[in-house]
Amino acid sequence: MKILCIGRNYIEHAKELNNPVPVEPVFFLKPDTAIIRNNDPFFYPDFSKDIHYETEIVIKIDRVGKNIATVFAHRYYNEIGLGIDFTARDRQQKAKDKGLPWEIAKAFDGSAPLGKFVPKTNFPDLGNIQFSLHKNGELMQNGNTKDMIFNIDYIISYLSQFFTLKIGDLIFTGTPAGVGPVQIGDHLKASIEGETFLEFDIK
Ligand code: MG
Repeated sequence: MKILCIGRNYIEHAKELNNPVPVEPVFFLKPDTAIIRNNDPFFYPDFSKDIHYETEIVIKIDRVGKNIATVFAHRYYNEIGLGIDFTARDRQQKAKDKGLPWEIAKAFDGSAPLGKFVPKTNFPDLGNIQFSLHKNGELMQNGNTKDMIFNIDYIISYLSQFFTLKIGDLIFTGTPAGVGPVQIGDHLKASIEGETFLEFDIK
């Protein structure tokens, strides 16, 4: 399986990192070794001093598809969840400055903690899902899928031009504003519509 991630999909987040608002989706990949499950802890790596959380709605693909039309994209996923797109911001800035790839900053082991998945039918409107991140009990991110620049179905259609989507593939759909650093000892809790989907410690 593969993990496809959309970057800069919320205007306020693009602005907070001084990035232009994209006219087509920006994306990158993470390997399966990035995944952390079961609320297991994230171990702060030695190669960065500035690991940031990015809380994102995650789509699980459950049908093989290529060149999927946006109007049919909804047939290719049944479950959604929450994940953290951990980013080594210092490494990413270096890569950006040199025009180099982002894997070193985005795809490392443990960079994709995943919470539980639920049927998409739990939500009457996928274009209006509120989600949030608390760090040590304090609200850090409060987003809504209505603020996405590119919606879920468009993202699936767009990515499927380049990649055959396979059963079990995951798509991180971008983070709202409010990203920030974590430190050893922090506790993160991510929720959709007030229900906890993921919580774990930084060790
Ligand atoms: Mg992200």
